[in-house]
Amino acid sequence: MTEVLSVSAVQMMVNGEWIDAGDGATMDVINPFDGSIVAAVPKGSRSDAKTAIGAAENALPAWADTSPDERAALLFAGIEKVREHQKELAKTLSMEQGKPVFEAMGEIHHFLHGMTFYAGLASKIRGAQVPLPPDMGKHSYGLVLKRPVGVCGAIVPWNFPITLMGTKIGPALIAGNTVVVKPASTTPLTTLRIIGLFNEAGLPAGVLNCITGPGREVGEELLQNPVVRRIAFTGESGTGRRVMEIAGPQFKRITLELGGSDPMIVMPDADLKKAISGAMIGRFWNCGQACLAVKRLYLHEDIHDEFLAGLLKKVGTYEVGDPSTRPEKPMLRMGPLHTADQRAEIEEQLADAVNRGAEVLIGGKRPDKPELAKGHFFEPAVVTGVPHDAKLVQDEVFGPVLPVFKIKDLDEGIALANDNQYGLGSSIWTQNLTWSNQAIREIQAGVTWVNQIHYGYDELPFGGVKASGVGHEHGPEAVDYYLEKKGAVIGGLA
Ligand code: NDP
Repeated sequence: MTEVLSVSAVQMMVNGEWIDAGDGATMDVINPFDGSIVAAVPKGSRSDAKTAIGAAENALPAWADTSPDERAALLFAGIEKVREHQKELAKTLSMEQGKPVFEAMGEIHHFLHGMTFYAGLASKIRGAQVPLPPDMGKHSYGLVLKRPVGVCGAIVPWNFPITLMGTKIGPALIAGNTVVVKPASTTPLTTLRIIGLFNEAGLPAGVLNCITGPGREVGEELLQNPVVRRIAFTGESGTGRRVMEIAGPQFKRITLELGGSDPMIVMPDADLKKAISGAMIGRFWNCGQACLAVKRLYLHEDIHDEFLAGLLKKVGTYEVGDPSTRPEKPMLRMGPLHTADQRAEIEEQLADAVNRGAEVLIGGKRPDKPELAKGHFFEPAVVTGVPHDAKLVQDEVFGPVLPVFKIKDLDEGIALANDNQYGLGSSIWTQNLTWSNQAIREIQAGVTWVNQIHYGYDELPFGGVKASGVGHEHGPEAVDYYLEKKGAVIGGLA
């Protein structure tokens, strides 16, 4: 382990210093590939979270007073340090999360791109000068000032721990706020290392802190503590409700990026090769553990059989196995699911569908390889004949199982796409502008991609509707959630 992690990286970062939990408690981080212990991290408590919040509060006035250029320069310095260590970071991420190293590398790149985007935005935040009617004072004018919200809590899940941290700390820091990050208990290592690198790069003590520990303790302290004025949460919709219950009554600024069940609709004029590739990456990247994964596939009846045959051929090229290795081309690596519970849930959802008449066309079981028995492996599956009210369609399926449906026209596709509690992403694959526009207008989702894989661009606001959440991350729009607007009137000028 020492080749990947320095000792200091397995403590918590508070006020610019590495610390243990106040009571010395630790928790193990387990490698989903073989159940081995990657490292132990502090099991922080409410009291530790209070210490971090206090550090962020103390650091706030001086940080809010820095110039946007200074903030950007410090962020760029941190970005460079992360870039220098990207290989080591990707290895650590793979070991704690289970994703193949090349996917982990992709996540680090996405983080760097997002942080670079926000560092560049620091000096572009604008208020407004507003002309006012002369009745109350000739030549008076109004100002709209933008000021940091204060101490922010960033609560992050395990599926993309690094990019989803970046979408929170990037806009928070450039807007002059201080932050306490709470990573998922199962994926704290790369997060701690990166936060350490940003502190090493010169962020003043207390500006960017990280507390590890259970959501019910550390997370809820962030939700409850009145000093924290802003909560950015990504996770399950159920936990999102709890966030609202605790933080809502205190009128904190809350954004919730929650679960999804993205539909993908393929029309008869689509470029099938690209669409098949889109469905593959969309459903099976990160072992299917993505909020914006393609979780339901609706194929027009004219191309249904051809598409399905092509898709099955491609899915057959996945080889589940050690995430630190790559198989011979054309085979593709798929790592294990993140936890045993995660796999049990997928198995239960699939079994329920099969009991109700669904047919598994490929995969859908644990691999028959003794050398993989200690990992949470599951062979990627494609399923047909699933009743639309089955769990496999209506609940979030957070693993590599894809139910496929035949549709006769776009109206039917859109009706089925909307027959779900979630509304995160969605896509349509067609060359027809009228069909594209209809899908963009009528699908109930935060984003509709046209002929594009489901991907969260740093440049574009991203967020869900219905049970998928409230508010946005990504894009310049995300910065607004980290700024208070204050009006001022300048009078007495006549
Ligand atoms: P969880 O909701 O279980 O956990 C997310 C984070 O919340 C973790 O850090 C967790 O800590 C913490 N937490 C748990 N309970 C509480 C609590 N009571 N108070 C405060 N914090 C708490 O989600 P998962 O980690 O399982 O993540 C997967 C989910 O995230 C999926 O539903 C997925 O769709 C969604 N997601 C949404 C995205 C979007 O942009 N819409 C993007 C990516 C994922 P701990 O680990 O200690 O329990």
